[in-house]
Amino acid sequence: MKSLTPIRQIDGLRDYVRRQRADGQRVGLVPTMGALHDGHLSLVEAISQQADAVIVSIFVNPTQFAAHEDLDTYPRHETEDLQILATTCATAVFAPSAGEMYPSGFATSVAVEGPAKGLETDMRPHFFAGVGLVVTKLLLQALPDVAIFGEKDYQQLLVIRRIVRDLDIPVEIIGGPIIREADGLAMSSRNAYLSADQRVIAGRLNQILRALAEAADPPDIAEAKAHDALLEAGFSAVDYACIRDAETLAAPDVQTTRRRALIAARLGDIRLIDNMDAR
Ligand code: AMP
Repeated sequence: MKSLTPIRQIDGLRDYVRRQRADGQRVGLVPTMGALHDGHLSLVEAISQQADAVIVSIFVNPTQFAAHEDLDTYPRHETEDLQILATTCATAVFAPSAGEMYPSGFATSVAVEGPAKGLETDMRPHFFAGVGLVVTKLLLQALPDVAIFGEKDYQQLLVIRRIVRDLDIPVEIIGGPIIREADGLAMSSRNAYLSADQRVIAGRLNQILRALAEAADPPDIAEAKAHDALLEAGFSAVDYACIRDAETLAAPDVQTTRRRALIAARLGDIRLIDNMDAR
């Protein structure tokens, strides 16, 4: 079995990419925060259909966590992650330190509106500034031919597409489908926080999302029903349960051709999100 030694420095990453290109290889990037599960591995597999060299980045990005969020307790399993990746098509791992990514005196931000407005931003106003910054940096550091992001974080995928388009970053962005547990719960590194009782309730999220996505009711009625169903199922709070235009994330209107149902709900301190195509 191969073994993967993480690249820690941006210069080392650039060197790796340069050598792949010199060998005529197409380069793909899979950004992650580690604690890898089958959702991440599906992205590695999917990008390997489009790239010869597959770089997986592992970086728990401090700028996308607010002070009260779980940066310190976010699961970090680098040794296991490297072992898992050694069994996949990944050819390199980029795992920089926070100091490498954000050296002292760091003073630049990436502000994005459009699809970043509302939904996640209503609850986590700092979030897309942090994601936009780190993804912009990773794309510019590696300058891969292609990078992949999961539809699990649907709004994030749209935000990244918009940044790449608006800033003319010459990287193709592709989306990967959501990988789920047997009961439909979308895989997430944060699922490890769930107690046995919470795990049972968490399984209901996907059923309620499906009912919302397939509802024949007008959106506001379907959304209210989903909201009530989540609270009845045992969720402690509902951040949103809504039907949006799948391309803009605005409320659907006569221009809308595709709709997306999206939910974010909380079980105590744990926040779960999911989404799917809607009728
Ligand atoms: P994270 O490590 O949570 O930042 O996720 C890294 C990438 O994996 C992001 O593009 C996520 O959207 C994607 N991802 C996370 N969970 C899943 C899943 N269950 N299915 C597909 N992609 C996922």
